Amino acid sequence: MTTNSTSLGLGRRDFLKNVAGATAAAALLPQPSGAAPAQTAKPQRMIGIQAGAVSFFDEGVGPVLDVFQERGAINTLFLTTFTYGRGLAGRQIPGQPFPDHGKQESDERTFHGGNYATPHPAFYADTVLKQTRAPEHGEADILQMVLPEAKKRGMKVFCSCEDVWRSSVPGVNQVTEVDLRGRRAGTLCLFNPDVRHFWTALVTDYCKSYDVDGILFFNERNGPLLNALGASHAQNIASSRVTCFCDHHQRAAKERGINFERCREAYVRLDQLVQDSLAGKRPSDGYFVEFWRLLVEYPEVLVWDRLFDEAKHEVLAEVYSTVKAIRPTLHVGFHVEHVNSFNPIFRATRRYDELAKKCDFLKVVVYNNCGGERYAHFIDNIGSTIFRDVPKAELKRFNDHLLNYTEEKELGELAAAGLSPDYVFRETQRAIAGVQGRCRVLPGIDIGIPVGRNSRVASPEDTYAATAAALRAGADGLIFSRKYSEMRLANLSAAGRAVREAFV
Ligand SMILES: [Zn+2]
Repeated sequence: MTTNSTSLGLGRRDFLKNVAGATAAAALLPQPSGAAPAQTAKPQRMIGIQAGAVSFFDEGVGPVLDVFQERGAINTLFLTTFTYGRGLAGRQIPGQPFPDHGKQESDERTFHGGNYATPHPAFYADTVLKQTRAPEHGEADILQMVLPEAKKRGMKVFCSCEDVWRSSVPGVNQVTEVDLRGRRAGTLCLFNPDVRHFWTALVTDYCKSYDVDGILFFNERNGPLLNALGASHAQNIASSRVTCFCDHHQRAAKERGINFERCREAYVRLDQLVQDSLAGKRPSDGYFVEFWRLLVEYPEVLVWDRLFDEAKHEVLAEVYSTVKAIRPTLHVGFHVEHVNSFNPIFRATRRYDELAKKCDFLKVVVYNNCGGERYAHFIDNIGSTIFRDVPKAELKRFNDHLLNYTEEKELGELAAAGLSPDYVFRETQRAIAGVQGRCRVLPGIDIGIPVGRNSRVASPEDTYAATAAALRAGADGLIFSRKYSEMRLANLSAAGRAVREAFV
């Protein structure tokens, strides 16, 4: 039970506790372009939007910021400065309809990714990952382009950095993970010192080379247990490809008194169980009992999964301490991925109060529109392995109870219906209760995140309802997601309307 008030005034944690006085507070107020600063003592929340470089090249810096302020009541930019992924960078996902702004032309062939600002070589001395500049926009530097105009308008600018890579980046092949069968993976090992140094170098570069307000760090990678089970919304089941079994992990295991070979053996057995389940080879005691028996006989399944999480959270802690050492007024946020909504096993590995110690704010994903198809996919995956004995529609209802969902549609209707505003409200309140006042909670609001052909298409009405629900739950602010280049303007306006109504 949260103690949070649903009041739309000052949050129960003083929003201003971490900002440097009234000037900074005034800069956080949503203001229409060209308007005089609002003369009100009532502090308002950080209303942010995620945007990639391409939108500013396509539409111009001033016009894009006008749209953000006028339609979305936005006062904070989460500018994608580093990723090789299409979720946060590039135009609309290929094959999806373009929104009603920006170039109506796919960048499928030109999209590359990388650092959309300028990597300053001196910061990258201790990593092999030195050449990461995104080539799409030549020598242009997105921070140099956007910062002056954003600052002029009193908007905050955060650098969004995401742990998504491509194999052609120089040095990547030396630092990738190794899977259960000894194959190189496409992901980077978070115990590898070159990788660790890269992340601290990158955020140091941003925070020392530019007048930014902080960092939003994205790492959506799962540990080997969830990957083996496919226990997420956006992945296939690949139990033989789980990671990481590289030398650095072997060393990390030894340092902690963990038996590396037992862990590997545990995952070989889990792989076999998953493959048998997928093939419908039912163990005589049933799928779930056999899975639980594996955990009893090989607790190393959990030990190895936890070691993955440990490295992931060490990276966050290092990013946080690095940024704070540069300037304590810089803020660091951590994106908490969507699987945290659906999956009770994942939830158990994420203590909000622990995460809150490593950041100033958490961006908690509460994407309701795409949430329907994603939740359905998750149920389909776990219903194919450890819960294969349970009819999937019943499994979904059971899981709803575990998650405290009360208003969601039946499994067969989930994708077309999406998740409800009640889901947004409950997940926001759960996060607020979880962080225990140690950091701010900024729900990530779904504004037109691409979905499959048979899933609900985002409308202004459901975008408005989701935004209003997050604010009603007591959110300290919002982050409109995933990126401007996939949002329709009417939906952005609807979100902005909910913000303005909450503050009247
Ligand atoms: Zn490793």
